[in-house]
Amino acid sequence: MRLALFNKGRLGLVDGDDLIDVTDQVAGADTAGPAGALQRCIEAASDGATVPFELDGRTRIPLADAALDAPLPRPGKIIGAPVNYSDHKAEMEYTTSVADLGVFLKANSSVIGPGEDILLPYSDKRTDQEGELGVVIGRITTHVSADDALDHVFGYTCVLDITVRSGEDRSTRKSFDTFTPIGPWIVTADEIPDPDTLDLRCDVGGTTRQRTNTADLIFGVRELIAYTSSVMTLHPGDVIATGTPAGVGPLAHGDRVVLDIEKVGRLEVGVDGSRATPYEQRPGRRDR
Ligand code: MN
Repeated sequence: MRLALFNKGRLGLVDGDDLIDVTDQVAGADTAGPAGALQRCIEAASDGATVPFELDGRTRIPLADAALDAPLPRPGKIIGAPVNYSDHKAEMEYTTSVADLGVFLKANSSVIGPGEDILLPYSDKRTDQEGELGVVIGRITTHVSADDALDHVFGYTCVLDITVRSGEDRSTRKSFDTFTPIGPWIVTADEIPDPDTLDLRCDVGGTTRQRTNTADLIFGVRELIAYTSSVMTLHPGDVIATGTPAGVGPLAHGDRVVLDIEKVGRLEVGVDGSRATPYEQRPGRRDR
């Protein structure tokens, strides 16, 4: 199944070129609040029961006519994997990888959905795209083994881990509002038996910058879930951005960023630099 949020919070099942509104088939989904109806759906399925959607006779909305929102507008946690592809490690001249660095957190207020704009904060500091496979956790997960890790996945989505190249901690550089585009939907895990086999491509301004297969991840999806769950309990709806391959680069005002992941989907967002300000004008004293 591909599940999306659309038209300001409705829950839709993608069927071909249509969306079928299933909001009223998940208890509480119509009043799910800022976490959204799909979060409610993931929680409802967290005991292992699949939600049996009734599709016959339902209104179909052409996808082309629907305004898709981020499938999870405010995830409980967004976890990132630093330096999880060897070719990205090489391009950044890093000497350490995810195996040394562990994971980091991004603010959940940084999420935007398809068609929205990444806002560039600084006029004179690079803000880069990082195209990544996103894993959506489906069950409470703590100290899970790599062998059992995929049983804890609800599904997969596309994630852009937008990043300022400056000196601050990762959690700052990656947490600006709009810095985590997610979508266009979540594909349930049953459609992707092995997430470590997916082609990934990220284009910026019509040029392909990143092209990889998730087989090249240093910590594969199973290993990354196992490691992360040894640090922190994962909850239904938490999102893990699995890391980016080589080809990160600066975004410019007016760019379109397109992330395409095999069997998952195609996420497209814009870039708006019209409110960017000089880095030196950021708040805070720097004389001590
Ligand atoms: Mn990243």
